[in-house]
Amino acid sequence: METNHKFFIMKTSYSNYASMFEDENEYETYTCEVCEANIHKRLTPFMCYFKELVIMGKGGFLCDKNGEIVEKCNTCNVFDYDKAGDMQGFGVNIEEWDGSDMFFFDNWPGVIIVTEKVKNLIEEKKLKNIIFTNLKEFTFF
Ligand SMILES: [Zn+2]
Repeated sequence: METNHKFFIMKTSYSNYASMFEDENEYETYTCEVCEANIHKRLTPFMCYFKELVIMGKGGFLCDKNGEIVEKCNTCNVFDYDKAGDMQGFGVNIEEWDGSDMFFFDNWPGVIIVTEKVKNLIEEKKLKNIIFTNLKEFTFF
């Protein structure tokens, strides 16, 4: 699907400043019997606080630049790190995304994705400790 949306990975450059933390999340940990990935399954809705922002948006599964889901385990949904490691650039399936300006991929926990709107707002505030990476340019290597 053709889209004008731009998405960015948002990270802080100083872990002790503007820190991101999870709270009120309960997990159970198990190993997927199919792909042997270690799974941290959350038992409560995923709550993540970035300063005072509560991020609960859902972005569907991690996709390639064309919005096709990156190969993943059908049992636990962990994406194939070997395949993803060879890929240059990732994307969002617009039909799976809930439209939130800040969200997580269902199978990439802890990595905050934001829209260009959020990036621009934060950059206007000159919060230099926050780094944005265009999802379309991101690589794991
Ligand atoms: Zn699995």
